[in-house]
Amino acid sequence: MKLDYNIYYEVAAAIFLSFLTGYVRLQYNMKLRSNRLFLRLALSILFNDILDIVTAFTISNADVLPEMLNMVINTLYLLSCALTGVILLDYASESLKNLGIEQEKWHIKAGIIIGIIYFSLIILNFFTGCIFDFKGKQYNHGSLYMSIYVIPYFYFVTGSIGLLKVGYHRGKKVLLSIFAYMSVMIAGALIQIFVAPYTLLNIFAGSVGITILLFSLETPEYEKLNETMEQLRRAKEAAQDANEAKSRFLANMSHEIRTPINAIMGMNELILRESKEASTIEYAQNIASASESLLGIINDILDLSKIESGKMEVVPANYSLRTLITDCCKMIEGRASAKKLELIIDADKTTPCNLYGDDVRLHQIITNILTNAVKYTHEGSVTLRIRWKSAGDGKKILLIVSVEDTGIGISDENKEKLFGSFERFDNEKNKGIEGTGLGLAITKQLVELMDGNIGVYSTIGKGSLFYVEIPQEIAALGELGDININKRTQNTVYKEKLVVPDKRILVVDDVKVNLKVIEGLLKKTQIQIETADGGAKCIEKAYNKKYDVILLDHMMPEIDGEDALKEIKKEGCINHDTPVIVLTAYVMAGAREKYIEKGFDDYLSKPVSGEDLEDMLIKYIKKEKNDE
Ligand code: ADP
Repeated sequence: MKLDYNIYYEVAAAIFLSFLTGYVRLQYNMKLRSNRLFLRLALSILFNDILDIVTAFTISNADVLPEMLNMVINTLYLLSCALTGVILLDYASESLKNLGIEQEKWHIKAGIIIGIIYFSLIILNFFTGCIFDFKGKQYNHGSLYMSIYVIPYFYFVTGSIGLLKVGYHRGKKVLLSIFAYMSVMIAGALIQIFVAPYTLLNIFAGSVGITILLFSLETPEYEKLNETMEQLRRAKEAAQDANEAKSRFLANMSHEIRTPINAIMGMNELILRESKEASTIEYAQNIASASESLLGIINDILDLSKIESGKMEVVPANYSLRTLITDCCKMIEGRASAKKLELIIDADKTTPCNLYGDDVRLHQIITNILTNAVKYTHEGSVTLRIRWKSAGDGKKILLIVSVEDTGIGISDENKEKLFGSFERFDNEKNKGIEGTGLGLAITKQLVELMDGNIGVYSTIGKGSLFYVEIPQEIAALGELGDININKRTQNTVYKEKLVVPDKRILVVDDVKVNLKVIEGLLKKTQIQIETADGGAKCIEKAYNKKYDVILLDHMMPEIDGEDALKEIKKEGCINHDTPVIVLTAYVMAGAREKYIEKGFDDYLSKPVSGEDLEDMLIKYIKKEKNDE
């Protein structure tokens, strides 16, 4: 048997690669995909090598062997080289993925296209000999011979670029090794093509190259890193799942608790309005304040979970600072006077009044620190101070709100822990004061979300001063001026804001007691109220009678609020243009926006107060009058 080629290098490579694959199989962790791919790469190069040696023999003996046998073996060899390229690329992508980098997809697409062209050429070669043939019983190169280098080298180059990126992220040593691997591979190919065409060097170079990769990328230390990365990825996924489960649980819990609180608070408001007996009114007042604290706790927990999951958003709008401050003071005034504390408002009259920012969150921040000041002060006063600084181009201001009290004060040691979640200080004087220790943690996060600062000065036994500085934009001219809060007595007598016996609304809720609450709360407005205890009834009524407003619960069995809304808003329904207000216990971040996006006209959250209900009706019923 003749042999026209020097195959010693390739034989050496075959022996070496056999040991190498055995070593990798035994030594490395085959559970990791990157290790399996490396083994596959080594096996594929070994397979190339064997075919290279076989073709060296069959080409040398073409004169005695069947032409077709040579065609098939040589074609197989070419295909196996392309396959090695594909595995190299896959291996590089996997190594990048282990570093958390997703490979770009363009070269995979390009690779597939080139692969198809290559495959077609190889088939075509059987009929035309455009790459090679064995006509005249000898190996002849066709006119497209060089094209056989294109595909393996395309894959080799893109795979190597991927590996270079891996090296770039893993440090100089790895990067240099990958350069060395690339140089060896290129040198092997160039020498074989241009210098010594009869010395088979390609696969020998490949085996040296892959050995360099083994010791740079597949060292046990790297393997450990990969394993750790995979564990980290799994842990991260598990943590994300757990966090989502927690958020879902909180949302459900909040919904489930709000529904009965709605009934308790609503019914209680009716007792307060209708009862004449002093002791009953007193009991009802106690129920009201206990329900409010319960609601406060639920809101705090929900807020904290929103902040933690990054779902808390700043929603800016135009607002009046005067209204905001007045609302905050009105809220706290009752509690302060009940404790005989003086509530002092010291506002800089020149503060811009018409601002643009998230007034809802600002309200929450100010009431949180005001509530604390009242809670932790037994005698003396609580002062709310409003100051401002111009910031930047005159369109922005830094709003400075501070609350000073003459209360129990905070020790230096506790000041550091003040803004942490669930921190309450075991101060003797603190005993009996209700709280969860979430208020300041939430306040701080909200302030930071609005790009502001919060701080505290305090002396134990003397009092504390909390301040927040929050950038706001000026929406329109106008100064704050004087702020007056009409001091209200503890038992504000309810007075309806509207009386509209000629108007009719439909209230939909699957919980019957909630329907009773709304009916009771709106009794004095004399508005005609019809009820439906489910989606189906709601649709039936909405198709038969015209209403001025529809109050629709969201979560109901069978046909829920959203489905009912879709039916109501259909052209054929006489109520298709009636304002539909969702009345729901679902209060997660962005709830209002979500409902409005779904087609509701407005949003009211449970527990709903009589005042909010009346305000909402005024908004929509008055609007209609204007339209008429
Ligand atoms: P909570 O008031 O629900 O306990 P906060 O997060 O609002 O929770 O406050 C954390 C702790 O900081 C309180 O328990 C209290 O010990 C202390 N604290 C907050 N504000 C004041 C204040 N104005 N005066 C004295 N102590 C305060």
